Amino acid sequence: MADLNTDVRYIKGIGEQRAKALAKLGIRTLRDLISWFPRRYEDRTALRPIAELLPDEAACVAAMVASPPTVSHIRKGMDLVKLRAVDGTGVLDVTFFNQAWLKNSLHQGETYIFYGKAEGGGARRKMVSPVVEPEGRREVTGRIVPVYPLTTGVSQLTLRRSIRQGLDACADILPDVLPDSVRREHTLCHVGFAFENIHFPQSPEALDLARRRLAFEELFLFAIGLRRLRSRRTAVSVSPCAAVDMGPFHRALPFTLTDAQRRCIEEALADMRSGAPMNRLCQGDVGSGKTMVAAACVYFAVKNGRQAALMAPTEILARQHYAGLAPLLEELGIRCILLTGSTPAREKKAVAARLAAGDADFAIGTHALITGGVEYADLGLVVTDEQHRFGVGQRAALIAKGCHPHTLVMSATPIPRTLALILYGDLDASVIDRLPPGRRPVETYAVPGSYRPRLYGFIRKQAAAGRQTYVVCPMVTENEELPDERKAVTEYAEMLRTQALPDLRVAFVHGKMKPKEKDAVMTAFAAHETDVLVSTTVIEVGVDVPNASLMVIENAERFGLSQLHQLRGRVGRGQHQSYCVLVSDNRNEETRQRLKVMTKTTDGFKIAEEDLRLRGPGDFLGQRQHGLPGLRIADIGCDTGLLKEPQSAAEALLAEDPALKSCPATAERIEELFAQAADTLN
Ligand code: ADP
Ligand code: MG
Repeated sequence: MADLNTDVRYIKGIGEQRAKALAKLGIRTLRDLISWFPRRYEDRTALRPIAELLPDEAACVAAMVASPPTVSHIRKGMDLVKLRAVDGTGVLDVTFFNQAWLKNSLHQGETYIFYGKAEGGGARRKMVSPVVEPEGRREVTGRIVPVYPLTTGVSQLTLRRSIRQGLDACADILPDVLPDSVRREHTLCHVGFAFENIHFPQSPEALDLARRRLAFEELFLFAIGLRRLRSRRTAVSVSPCAAVDMGPFHRALPFTLTDAQRRCIEEALADMRSGAPMNRLCQGDVGSGKTMVAAACVYFAVKNGRQAALMAPTEILARQHYAGLAPLLEELGIRCILLTGSTPAREKKAVAARLAAGDADFAIGTHALITGGVEYADLGLVVTDEQHRFGVGQRAALIAKGCHPHTLVMSATPIPRTLALILYGDLDASVIDRLPPGRRPVETYAVPGSYRPRLYGFIRKQAAAGRQTYVVCPMVTENEELPDERKAVTEYAEMLRTQALPDLRVAFVHGKMKPKEKDAVMTAFAAHETDVLVSTTVIEVGVDVPNASLMVIENAERFGLSQLHQLRGRVGRGQHQSYCVLVSDNRNEETRQRLKVMTKTTDGFKIAEEDLRLRGPGDFLGQRQHGLPGLRIADIGCDTGLLKEPQSAAEALLAEDPALKSCPATAERIEELFAQAADTLN
């Protein structure tokens, strides 16, 4: 008997080949398969007579093939199939490019459905490369058709057919993880209806019902999972830290901490004194001074006789932290060490020995901090920087090096308050909502593509003044495929190098490069060996390069506000006036508004609220944070209005039945979803 964890090959029609293709998308089990949700839908329900086709509307036509299709070979790599089709109202001339096989599958005298946009007028129309299928099949015409995210070697057709088969195979084994009472009280549809209609909607209304139900379910499970994690965590007790005189720490700083920094520190220290392990998120805009909050916690933990570790996602970030923190903390009697992938083996051994013997107090590094040989005498505090770029496992591995160590996570992604409550539930979060005084805001402009020549002139001017520029390059996605970032970056960099900016030193970096290569490019940029760095957002350039004063973002309309804000945060870190130029030819009103927000404010939380208002919660919910499961359907199917209901439903259920005895399917699914998080959040 199959269950949702059964391998997709269980399905007749999914053989070795197709299974391999699906695995590329991470689809291995039946659950993966039916949970591969469409990116969007095409409404192909409208059916029109030939004479009534509208010029700008794609529509279906039922027409009989009147002449046998002909194939002509135009030139190398270009075949044309032509045919004439008719209905009672007119004639449709149809042309297909490079689909020669259609000659033998479309038969004279039979009726087919053609879906596409028609040209011409009256009773004589033309269609180029329409979607076509026999009348009555209704697989790709006459219905709302799902459009899935793809990857090379997996077509829409493969996915649609596999998912169709997956749904049929699962029809009888889909457990409803929503308790009946909750489903009824919130007027949600059945699970079977939801999965069927999220993929193959009977109508727009059915699609709405399906989305609502699946988004509700996801948020509901998430809310319960969070609350249970919390109660599990507060049940662990550790010996509380003692109060420490923080005076020497404050006096050693070259500046006074902001009130926001002080508040975060107080909250964290109170956690560590509470007797339960701290699990705190410190959220603050780029440049808000999170590092000093971490430093204060390290000081506090070490003065309590414990060790601390700070893990950064890249070598260069780790080195920057070490360069910034070690001189300060050494002065205060804290023995700091740096441990990264490029630490020579002999030194690594020596460092590891010091950590194991308790002869070092504070380890700063990359994932080298968690590699096999490294042990800690008494790891009491784990800090992770920019944690969203770590795998969950890496954080868990560092935590496992101690015995319920306190954890502090630093994140530069501002989340609106309403959402923070949902994403973190009762997990403790501190917010640094003020920047240190004296920052010059990044001047931001939104311009159309026609400004590019002037923009390149501006880049050159910055370079002449000794400054550097980041360019986030456009990313073209063809045919719903996941974008090819490598191609996009290398081609754009090549264009700059050979045409637009041949006099400057242009480098590029993208996520497909090896970590070592990426680090090398970043280090060279930080050392001002290059003037312009082209990249995608896929790799976030988290490194501090105070000399970079210009951020250019191509196709700015493709980004959410929060993402634009993150990118802009890469400049404005030094004493130079910095600029951000958003390039977009999109005249859509929403885009215009969004880009205008960027030119008006640099406050990350304001921007996040505005993003929530303009685009809904998708962008925030889609991000995996803190080792928690991602919210996939809520990401595409949820409006802000739906956020509260699942929360209160979760609370009500837990109040009545804290152990979830009445709904084993719910309990089981939450266990699965949160298995990883339970390991990570001590
Ligand atoms: P982020 O939150 O992005 O990690 P950092 O901790 O790197 O920010 O701080 C950004 C810069 O601001 C650093 O150069 C740091 O020395 C400086 N800084 C931090 N706190 C203050 C403060 N209270 N007053 C002045 N400068 C500060
Ligand atoms: Mg930082």
